[in-house]
Amino acid sequence: MLVESRNTLTRMGSYLREGILSLDPNDGVIIDLTKPAARLLGRPSKELIGTTIRTLLDPQMSSDGWRLLATRLRGGGPLTVASGFSQPGNASIPVELTFFLEDANVEGDSEGNPAGRKVIVISRDLSEVAQANTRTAQSNQVLNAALSSVEDGVAVVDLDGTIRHVNDSLEQLVDRPFDQLIGRSIFDAPWTWLDRTGTPIPTDSSPEVIAIRSGNSFAVEGLRLHGLGNRRSEGEIRSVNVKIEPISDQTGAPDSLVIVVTDRTEQLLIQEKLEELRSTDPLTGLMTRPRTVERLEELASGYGAIAEVTGEKPSRIGVLHVDLDDFRSINDTFGTGVGDFVLTELADRFNDLGFRHVEIGRIGVDEFLFITTGSGSSLQFDGKMRRLADELQRRIETPIQHLGVELRFTSSIGVSRFPLGTLDAHEILRTADAARRAARREGRNRIRLYDAMIDETIRSGLTLDRDLRRAAAQRELEVHYQPIIDLRTGALAAAEALVRWTHPERGPVPPSIFIPSAEATGAISSISDMVLTTVAADLSDWNSRGIMPADARISVNISAGEFEMRGFVQRLVATIENAGVLPDQLELELTESLLMRDMEATATRLRTLDDLGFFVALDDFGTGYSSLSYLQSLPLHTLKVDRRFVHDLGNGRSETITRAILSLAQGLGIDTVAEGVETDVQRDFLIREGCDMVQGFFYSPPMPKPTFERFLSRSVSG
Ligand code: C2E
Ligand code: MG
Ligand code: MG
Repeated sequence: MLVESRNTLTRMGSYLREGILSLDPNDGVIIDLTKPAARLLGRPSKELIGTTIRTLLDPQMSSDGWRLLATRLRGGGPLTVASGFSQPGNASIPVELTFFLEDANVEGDSEGNPAGRKVIVISRDLSEVAQANTRTAQSNQVLNAALSSVEDGVAVVDLDGTIRHVNDSLEQLVDRPFDQLIGRSIFDAPWTWLDRTGTPIPTDSSPEVIAIRSGNSFAVEGLRLHGLGNRRSEGEIRSVNVKIEPISDQTGAPDSLVIVVTDRTEQLLIQEKLEELRSTDPLTGLMTRPRTVERLEELASGYGAIAEVTGEKPSRIGVLHVDLDDFRSINDTFGTGVGDFVLTELADRFNDLGFRHVEIGRIGVDEFLFITTGSGSSLQFDGKMRRLADELQRRIETPIQHLGVELRFTSSIGVSRFPLGTLDAHEILRTADAARRAARREGRNRIRLYDAMIDETIRSGLTLDRDLRRAAAQRELEVHYQPIIDLRTGALAAAEALVRWTHPERGPVPPSIFIPSAEATGAISSISDMVLTTVAADLSDWNSRGIMPADARISVNISAGEFEMRGFVQRLVATIENAGVLPDQLELELTESLLMRDMEATATRLRTLDDLGFFVALDDFGTGYSSLSYLQSLPLHTLKVDRRFVHDLGNGRSETITRAILSLAQGLGIDTVAEGVETDVQRDFLIREGCDMVQGFFYSPPMPKPTFERFLSRSVSG
């Protein structure tokens, strides 16, 4: 039987990596062993058989120890211990030994004592495993070191969800120490995932769970991490991207996951800040130009629409291009601080317009774009745009109080509107701008709706300037005279020279259209020369014929472009000397905005003109920003109340303003002229309030020289 069992063990034993020994239960004497077992013990089998295993163990086992072991084995179950086999020459190799009692298919020994069953030992060489473990430990160390220097949070998770490893960054990210994370299940993680909108993601569809269930790699951007530790403020949320990669064992089956969490919170904050800088004007909080254009592009292409009625698809888009008149002079005069104050104040007024679905951008220093969409008929939509423009104009006109100074503004507003989908953003911008420029050309404080005519005007505007230079040379320009009447005597006090242009093809072109463009191109100087030469010659003619009343003056409009031109005073003096006319027969009409442009240079020049004997009038008073302080300090003789106030007489507010202007001028010893008097009601009011002079259609329109001469002779003889 022994032989039999030996053979069995030897035969099958050589197929196994593990060494197998069979031992006598009494004192552990080796009865038989396989080749691998002998190899593990470093001796030939023959030498080993008959020796007790106790002395071959490292450390050795006492006979008491063996008895205890045998008793335990009889008590049931195999017993596994880690031990060592001592090899010859003091060497020892680590082994794992599993002891059990031989199967009791035999009835024990002769006495039937099951204690006679042999003890079988399976010995496994642990040195390879130990080496592998050392290697793993070493490589784990390298890995740990590498992972701890990685900025991304990394966690290794078993397929059952147990967290096996986290690196420093992950600890920091979730703000929990290592030991609170290791061994914990991700199904019971201390954090929660939120989606982009901040809504919690149910555990079932959280990224790790999906990766575990599917066994596939998984990546998702724009998640948020909530429920972080307590070193951070309550409720802190980090924005993260997550990548999960399953790791497979040798057989290729996944056995764990690597989760990489990239914290993007700071990066997103910076991005947000940059985006805010790009899209929001820091001064007014309105959209910047690039953002406005982008927004218009979105709306024009029907995306991100601001619907007129919720749920209703917009079918029309409208844009208002608002340009403040004469804003530049505010900065020049009062400094950019005041300019900034004005812009913020206006932005505030725009922000509570009371119109729904209007988006506002600041697209230039003093230019604003209002974008709106709507549905319904084009007539309705035009009506809405019109009301919006009127409301804007009203808000801009309301005086702004700043440090005791009252600042007044007007604006030129271009409006364009189209069915959605007919024009792209850039075309819409172009049309609104064209309408704005048309409003500008028609004088200040205008609203102009875009129509195809405007394009035509712009095209012809280019030829207009060319034609104008020719006109000045070829006497297409003419000077008309409009009487200014002394209200006390009813006699002619003065006349205003107004330039007239009859274009050979287009007929009469009003000065409010061609003067501003002549200023822009420089053609103004030839016009100015022509007007001054004509006026000087006419005056000299009337003087010699004795039809000009004594003390009567001719007033001439001087635009900013002319006034600021070098040598203006010299040319003016030369012109009238040539004609033999004295300066006190001329009055120069300047506008408020001109005076405000460069106060010091203007004051110097005005004093020169005053010293030379010229009269100076302030034209269109009340349309600028009426900083009354300069009235006192500048040598002004006449103040011309703008015809807007005269026109509105009968309206309480205009009356109050007109009355105030008149009494102010009287107090300063400045003569007053009311412009644009058309009715006897207006005239009577002006008489009552002590206005000195009037000018307007009620008395006479501007007239060509021969007609004016007839008027002169009538008034001199009458
Ligand atoms: P302004 O200096 O305020 O001239 C008065 C304007 O009011 C003139 O317009 C005149 O025709 C108009 N007007 C006079 N009485 C009445 C009235 O009772 N009712 C109404 N509604 N209007 C009245 P006009 O001739 O079209 O000139 C417009 C502006 O063009 C002038 O305003 C002036 O600023 C400028 N301008 C005219 N001639 C010259 C010129 O020779 N040189 C320069 N630089 N500018 C000129
Ligand atoms: Mg005038
Ligand atoms: Mg005027």
